[in-house]
Amino acid sequence: MEPVIVAHGGAGKGYFLEERKKGIADALLSGYKLLKEGKSAVDAVVECVRVMEDNPHFNAGYGSAMGLDGTIEMDAAVMSSDGKFGAVAGIKNVKNPVLVARKVMEETEHIILCGEGAERFAKLMGFSEFDPTTEWVKEKFKEKKSSYYKKLKELAELYGFGTVGAVALDVHGKLAAATSTGGLMFHLPGRVGDTPIPGGGTYASPLGAASASGHGECIAVNLVSFRAVDMLKEKPIHQVLGILKDEIPCRFGIILLDKHGNPGNILNADYMVWGYVKEEKLQVLER
Ligand code: ASP
Repeated sequence: MEPVIVAHGGAGKGYFLEERKKGIADALLSGYKLLKEGKSAVDAVVECVRVMEDNPHFNAGYGSAMGLDGTIEMDAAVMSSDGKFGAVAGIKNVKNPVLVARKVMEETEHIILCGEGAERFAKLMGFSEFDPTTEWVKEKFKEKKSSYYKKLKELAELYGFGTVGAVALDVHGKLAAATSTGGLMFHLPGRVGDTPIPGGGTYASPLGAASASGHGECIAVNLVSFRAVDMLKEKPIHQVLGILKDEIPCRFGIILLDKHGNPGNILNADYMVWGYVKEEKLQVLER
């Protein structure tokens, strides 16, 4: 099977456009390399998301957005087409939430670990402590510290910094999805978004794989990633994307990959950088 990988840098306001385009290209190529070596779709999406988490120009890992209290709580998830799921929610002080999410999937009987428990688990798994705060996010926090805390929809519009995600099809015909985020700027402490909710921001099945970004509460309640993948049962990918754009009442963007290796993206927000590698050809696109 010809492997394919797709990635996005979040639906949002369009900060750091050039850096994000380059960052997506770097992340896609490092995930694709693993696929070409015969590694799994899970290996590829986790590597692709890890590279974006390490890049301070994305709202995930290093560079994550701050909550209302000035602390950073991150969400991340991984899912494989054979139904395995692992996530962390509201985790602090780690560099790569996606790597911890993978450990939850592979080393525990659980699907989601949150807050302090997730942090303790990360330590147990050998991850060292890391402060994901960047100067840019600190500045934004000072500049715009807001009293908007209840109007999350407006927060998504005003401060949508993005999220990162990847979906892949490996040479064995298996699919996987991974997503990682610092969440919405100025969210209430303890808030969990769509990213770690199975079928919300992240989903994979033998039909396809999806990763979403945008207004997390809306994406989660509407199970956007699950719906995207499930509709592939009956409809081709371009129709599924059209239906999502018409029917999902959220500010969101999504990447979708079907089991035949067709990639797609749809956006109901200001801006999104996304791209894919298929038949050795890298495409980086913006909407
Ligand atoms: N979906 C993310 C969240 O709500 C934020 C984003 O994608 O911008 O946590």
